[in-house]
Amino acid sequence: MTKIRKSSIEMDKEEFRKIGYQLIDDISEFIGSIDKKPVTPNESPSQLQNILGNVSLPENGTPATELISKTTDLLFNHSLLNGHPKFLGYITSSAAPIGALADLLAASVNPNVGAHILSPIATEIEKQTVKWLAEFIGVSPDYGGILVSGGNMANFTAFLAARTAKAPKNIKEDGIQNTLNKLTVYCSKTTHTWIEKAVILFGLGTNSVRWIQTDASNKMDTTILETTIKKDLENGCKPIMVIGTAGDVSTGIVDNLVEISTICKKYDLWFHIDGAYGIPAAIIPKLKNMFDGIKEADSIALDPHKWLYSPLEAGCTLVKNPQHLIDTYSSHPEYYNFSNSEDEIAQNFYEYGLQNSRGFRALKVWITLQQVGRSGYEKLISEDIELSEMLYNLAKKHPELEAISQNLSIATFRYISIDNAHNKEYLNKLNENILNELQTGGEVFLSNAIVQENYCLRGCIVNFRTSKKDIEEIIEIVIREGRKVHLKLSQTKIL
Ligand SMILES: *Cc1c(COP(=O)(O)O)cnc(C)c1O
Repeated sequence: MTKIRKSSIEMDKEEFRKIGYQLIDDISEFIGSIDKKPVTPNESPSQLQNILGNVSLPENGTPATELISKTTDLLFNHSLLNGHPKFLGYITSSAAPIGALADLLAASVNPNVGAHILSPIATEIEKQTVKWLAEFIGVSPDYGGILVSGGNMANFTAFLAARTAKAPKNIKEDGIQNTLNKLTVYCSKTTHTWIEKAVILFGLGTNSVRWIQTDASNKMDTTILETTIKKDLENGCKPIMVIGTAGDVSTGIVDNLVEISTICKKYDLWFHIDGAYGIPAAIIPKLKNMFDGIKEADSIALDPHKWLYSPLEAGCTLVKNPQHLIDTYSSHPEYYNFSNSEDEIAQNFYEYGLQNSRGFRALKVWITLQQVGRSGYEKLISEDIELSEMLYNLAKKHPELEAISQNLSIATFRYISIDNAHNKEYLNKLNENILNELQTGGEVFLSNAIVQENYCLRGCIVNFRTSKKDIEEIIEIVIREGRKVHLKLSQTKIL
């Protein structure tokens, strides 16, 4: 009587194999020739909409072979390629090819890494990944944590744990509106925009952020930090946490983490480090001192999809005492027949963060950590830093360029037209125009930074495909475009 169900969504073994082999062939070609393609095709939203066609939801299905083949072309020909050797924009890395295979494998098995019983080996792999990431950056492997979608989520996950730990004990029950004293948080002016979302999301409001001035070296001024905390205490506020940045987005500066940690201890505040970009550089022996103090952090956000070259998305929250995550996020609804994380029989990741059902994003990180190994990462990260120094030095040498800053793997510089070398307004306008030309031209992708009110071109190298030759060519491209844009601008006499 029983008949095997025929589902339109199922693929039989032969069909899957055939389409899969073709896809893998196409991806190999794509990766193998990525340097020959433009960094971006620079198509407008309406051009792209035309390519997709203004069609409504299909009524009937289409064969998988046709779909995969069409979609492959669509993505390969109309994407910005952050895996291109001349992509140095923002902090977006080239993705480890093994990560793509790991994602395919993870999606094929599809464990739900919310609960141990639903993802036995995947949960253990994620636990091991978290432990390895702690070892990687050089903190105790006893830090616990969870993988999340990226740096923002990693910071949010830590922020709420800090709020639970340092706000009045009844905050989980009574909420923020019943706290007698205004909760305040401290971070430097260079802190990434996640903090604004966090204080909105978790009810403190944007006025609770104390944006601490930076000193001459662009680090958080810890004297101002301490006086601000004192003043807030006198005024009846309740400071809860200080955020140190380990590699700021604009110029790569690492705050003085030792001094911040001392102040946190003195005033009983949670010490959080946003290391989304820079903290993997702690693996480089000669940079170790720069990261002194990370072992004191109550929590750390890092981002394997940046300098560990994982495909998007992969972030990680590490917490010195992981019980804080359970205190913040755990609940035990009657419809979950899961063992209790606290009895250490099985760890259920839904109790460690904001997500409930969770994908197996740990796999790509876990597998890449093994493919490359500690020494391999040390080499890749050092080379990225050297290339960034090379970019800075070439800019410094060239009469038409001004080198502005170089930290970790970020170099900033700008084009200078000799006849307008002191016209700040003009140079800002000029460099902004140059950047627009570069970003649409498809030869190279840089982004921008404002350093001491100077509009700069910014290259951030978290790209294992970039070579010395690329850096030399990038300098030539910038000079060529700089001259062109300067000629155009000075002729139009806007300024
Ligand atoms: C990139 C970055 C973030 C945000 O991370 P996403 O992965 O983009 O969410 C936060 N802080 C710093 C310092 C960053 O570099």
